[in-house]
Amino acid sequence: MNTLKPSYKGLLRNAFSLQIPSPVYDGRGLHEVKGEGLNWLFRNSPYKLILPFILIFQLTNSTTANDKTFPEHQTVSSSHFKLHHESSYAPAGVLNVLEGLHAKLLLDLHAFAPWASQDKVEVFLFKDAASYAAHTGMPKWAGAHVNLNTRQVYGYESERFQRAMAHEMAHLFFDSYFLVKKKHPPLWLNEGVATLMEYEYGAEYEKAGIERMVANGPVMPLNQFFAYQYRHSGPQNSKQVAHWYAQSYSVIKFLMRRFSNAQFVTFCEKIRSGAPIDDALSAAYGLQMNNTKSLEKLWREGIGK
Ligand SMILES: [Zn+2]
Repeated sequence: MNTLKPSYKGLLRNAFSLQIPSPVYDGRGLHEVKGEGLNWLFRNSPYKLILPFILIFQLTNSTTANDKTFPEHQTVSSSHFKLHHESSYAPAGVLNVLEGLHAKLLLDLHAFAPWASQDKVEVFLFKDAASYAAHTGMPKWAGAHVNLNTRQVYGYESERFQRAMAHEMAHLFFDSYFLVKKKHPPLWLNEGVATLMEYEYGAEYEKAGIERMVANGPVMPLNQFFAYQYRHSGPQNSKQVAHWYAQSYSVIKFLMRRFSNAQFVTFCEKIRSGAPIDDALSAAYGLQMNNTKSLEKLWREGIGK
């Protein structure tokens, strides 16, 4: 079994004290943990949220699991996955779930991750949240996390497995487009894509909740929304962060579903090259939507605000 290096535990302590390290794409990888908070929020009053639920960690390769994390014979493979499982037997249908997700995600994200058609993703599946937390050092309430550099995804058996994988694999595919140029996507764009994929391909049953949250809750003016960095937020702002996530889902849904995939790819290509958002919008969407102001107007019309 892998054990954690003390430095990693230090990193986690920092995260819990909300001095969350900024994500640095330096070729060593990026960790993300998505917790229960957002979904808890949809089931409960937004005013009761008590935990910050999204943390981003930088990590080093020394802290990742490897082939020896579980016994070698506890491995199953499919066309696009090598799955290591902690339980004696791989859960029935888990490879089908992963392959199904893979196919859906690539319908939207293939242009960002052409490698995904042939290269395998390694998945480490712990038997439960407690074991996942004990072996990876992640908090128990975390759903899953990904190492972009090694293309490894970590999760555990639960009814939330599919949505957690949808979110993290979306990060894996989308981030890699930026990573090859040693860039990283803006937070709103990255989280918006992952959250849209999560709700469309893993949590369809809660889509009405996140849509309602956008329709009924506060939304930020887009310039403020683009610049928002939740790592500066304390627990007192967790409600605001949750609404920001819901807005990211909504704005990306607008960009990806109202227009063609080719237009969204062009938009991201311009963003990756360092173009300002207005220039990227203009290049991708032309006169239809050539700046933030027109995006804001059309998006707000779409959500009835
Ligand atoms: Zn995320």
